[in-house]
Formats: sequence, structure tokens, C-alpha cells
Amino acid sequence: MTSIPLKSHYTAVVVGGGQAGLSASYYLGRAGIDHVVFEKKTAAHKWKTERWDAFCLVTPNYQCLLPDHPYDGADPHGFMVKDEIVAYLDRFIDKVKAPIVEQTEVRLVERKGGGFRVETSAGTVTADSVILATSLYADPFIPRAGARLPETILQVHTADYRNPQSLPDGAVMVVGSGQSGCQIAEDLHLAGRKVHLVTGNAPRCARFYRGRDVVDWLTEIGQYEITIADDGMEKKKHDTNHYLTGRDGGRDIDLRQFALEGMALYGRMETVSGGRMIFRPNLRQNLDEADRVYNGINALIDRHIAAKGIEAPPPSVYQPVWEPQTETGELDLAAAGITSVIWATGFTPDWSFAALPIFDGTGYPVQRRGVTGLPGIYVLGLPWLWTWGSGRFLGVAKDAEYVIDHLAGFVADRADVPRRATAC
Ligand SMILES: Cc1cc2nc3c(=O)[nH]c(=O)nc-3n(C[C@H](O)[C@H](O)[C@H](O)COP(=O)(O)OP(=O)(O)OC[C@H]3O[C@@H](n4cnc5c(N)ncnc54)[C@H](O)[C@@H]3O)c2cc1C
Repeated sequence: MTSIPLKSHYTAVVVGGGQAGLSASYYLGRAGIDHVVFEKKTAAHKWKTERWDAFCLVTPNYQCLLPDHPYDGADPHGFMVKDEIVAYLDRFIDKVKAPIVEQTEVRLVERKGGGFRVETSAGTVTADSVILATSLYADPFIPRAGARLPETILQVHTADYRNPQSLPDGAVMVVGSGQSGCQIAEDLHLAGRKVHLVTGNAPRCARFYRGRDVVDWLTEIGQYEITIADDGMEKKKHDTNHYLTGRDGGRDIDLRQFALEGMALYGRMETVSGGRMIFRPNLRQNLDEADRVYNGINALIDRHIAAKGIEAPPPSVYQPVWEPQTETGELDLAAAGITSVIWATGFTPDWSFAALPIFDGTGYPVQRRGVTGLPGIYVLGLPWLWTWGSGRFLGVAKDAEYVIDHLAGFVADRADVPRRATAC
């Protein structure tokens, strides 16, 4: 645990010591702005404690662009595994030398006078400005139906899943087919476990197409420069990520292929009742929709290749290798030999410490590129805060630089106020 003596007042307080909070600290330090980072556990701990053993990046290494800390390893087009990601972050932590106070939870941020009062588990400070960098992935979300599962079944959220050996013998039900659910289903499937997978509406994307990683094509096309302020983009901020993997050098995740190999697939989970899981009859629709997005992204790349006259291997359209013959309405979990359920149902944010008038009716902070309507309050690290990369290694640095530039102007203006008053 880092221990630095707390001052009574800071120009800036950063809440959260993940990659977003540390990026903010980097630019605050560079601007010479006195600040402190409060982290309720340890710096960047999520990458160390909430990822499974076989975890690897889905985004290519060259998209790791933390401030002054681009990926500089030997495999820019590869996908770092968990230990490599942790080492990359540890080097960043060493470089930033943030004034971070670990194991210290911020319990309340409220307006006080012209600034803010920040109550923490280590004491209370005041601040001219506060940056909220606690992400949308604060708490694992488990549907209430989980409480109705038989007690004999082990329940694990993806944040706590480690490896197939850590689960009891027997079949495994994975609920959720987003990036984590699909990758964990694959992890178990490759280990020879019988996997049942409840699908949702997550789209999918090819790993490689026409000779290159799809991310390379999308970079060239300019997809990662599109901002939330561009036409029709506002709804993007709640979109589910595409499923694909960086495992073993990267490949597609094709649930239809898994089904051919013995994985059991279902439509969306409705509820749990009497030891049975009940499903919506929409497996076919979920698979079709994921493939539609997959083929749509490839078609975008086709148009780019044609428009630019690029030489590339020929185009192709994904043809389903398996179709569901029926929609399973319910499953008796014990009869199917299921001994564990993995909840790949995402996370919920926790802004309960922020007693600030910045949230919309859904609890989402209203802001433009991290600058809220409440002077002195900023947000960082959310998906689509500004671009697709905002909640990732790709875009957090640019957003942090923008936010700290704004904050520097704000505190300079505040410092000017008494001087002007005196002059009058
Ligand atoms: C399974 C998974 C896979 C991902 N894969 C990729 C990928 O391939 N490529 C990529 O670029 N990105 C990926 N991401 C997305 C992203 O890079 C991470 O979510 C990243 O951890 C977000 O960083 P952050 O700093 O915004 O938030 P976090 O890492 O969540 O950090 C927030 C910090 O705030 C602290 N905190 C919360 N509340 C308080 C409080 N009240 N007081 C003090 N501290 C508090 C928390 O302890 C935490 O350390 C993935 C995310 C997940 C979940």
C-alpha cells in the first residue's frame, strides 16, 4: 500500500487508480498541477485480479497507447497475454509515479463553497476539481434469477473465473455471449468441458479478412477517429462489444462451429425456476444478427479496398456452418449435468459516492469528452466518452490530455478571480 501524507486541499483529486486515473495523473503532473489519486484497492488491479488465466487482449498490441507509454515490444500485431499486460501496466505505473493513495475509498464527493469536499476512508480533503475515473465496470452484475439456482451449482462471475480446473467436474453453463462469455466458453470447450452457452445480442467481427487484421483495416478506414459527436453515434455508448479473440495469435469466434463440436447453444435467458433455466426462443436470431454484423464489417472493408484500388486476397461472405433445428425453451440443469454457472453478464457502474448533479435519468454522467456541466467535475475512461477507444488502451490518453487541458484552464481562471476582484 502506498502511503503519502494527505494535504487538506488539492487543486485536483482523481478518483480511481486504473489506466484512466493514472493517465489523468500523468497529464496533471506534466502540467504541474498538484493532485492526489485515491484508489480503493491497488493501482490497475482490475487487470491483475479480474481476468482469467488464459486472458489476452482482443485489441492488437499497437493499440496500447497509454500516455508516453506506447507498446514497444516485439509483437505489435500480436495480443498480450495477462502477465504481459500486467507488466506493461507496471512499467506505466513506475513511469507516472502518481501521488496515489491506495486502499483508500472515496465515499463522498460533494460541492462545498466554490469547490468540492472529498470524503475518503483515510480522511477528508477539499479540492478545486475532481476527476471521476472509476469506469463502467465497477461491480460484477449477476441477474436476480441467480438466487434461484440450486445451491449445489457453483456460481461464478467472469471477474472471478480463473481456469477450467477451478470449476467442479461436470458441464458448465455460461450465461452471456459478449467478449468475455465467448472467450470463457472457448476456454472451457478447448479444455474438453461440456459447455452450454446462453447467447445474447452481441455482434461479432472477423479477426482477419482479406489478408489483414480487421482492426488494421478499420484503422486505415478511420473508424477509430469517429467521435460520439458525429451524426448518429450517440446511441453507440451502450453498444455491446463484438466477439472475437486474440488467443494463439488471434482468430474468429464462431459459435456455430462450437455447436458442431458439441457446445449447446440457447437463446437469451429469461429466468430460472424449479432447477430449470428458461430461454427466449431467439437463438437463431442472435446467431443471424451476429453474422450480419460480421459480414457488414467485411463489406465495409471490401468497399474500402475497391475504392482505393488496394491489392488484397479475394472477398468472401460467411456462410453458416450450423443452424439450430429447434429453439430450446428450457433446460433441467441437474439432468444436463451442469455443476457450475458462469455469469458473463457484465458489470454495473457505481457512482454512489458522487453526490453531484451530473447524471442523466439512467445514471450516466452527462458530459462532452469528459467535461461535465458542473465546473471542476470531469469523467474519464468510459466507452465512447469520445471515440471507440475512450474506454480502452487506445483512446484514454487523448481524452485524458484533453480533460487536463480543460481542467488547467479552469483552475487558472479560478486563480484569476480574487486577483481581478482585488484590482477592482
Ligand atoms: C474482460 C475485459 C476485457 C477487456 N479487453 C480489452 C482489450 O482487449 N483491449 C483494451 O484496450 N481494453 C480492454 N478492456 C477495457 C478496458 O481497457 C478496461 O476496462 C480498463 O480496465 C478500464 O480502465 P479504467 O481506469 O477506466 O477503469 P478500471 O480499470 O475499472 O479502474 C477504476 C478504478 O477505480 C477504483 N475505484 C472505484 N470506485 C472507487 C472509489 N469510490 N474510491 C476509490 N477508488 C475507486 C477501482 O478500484 C479501480 O481500480 C477490457 C475490459 C474487460 C472488463
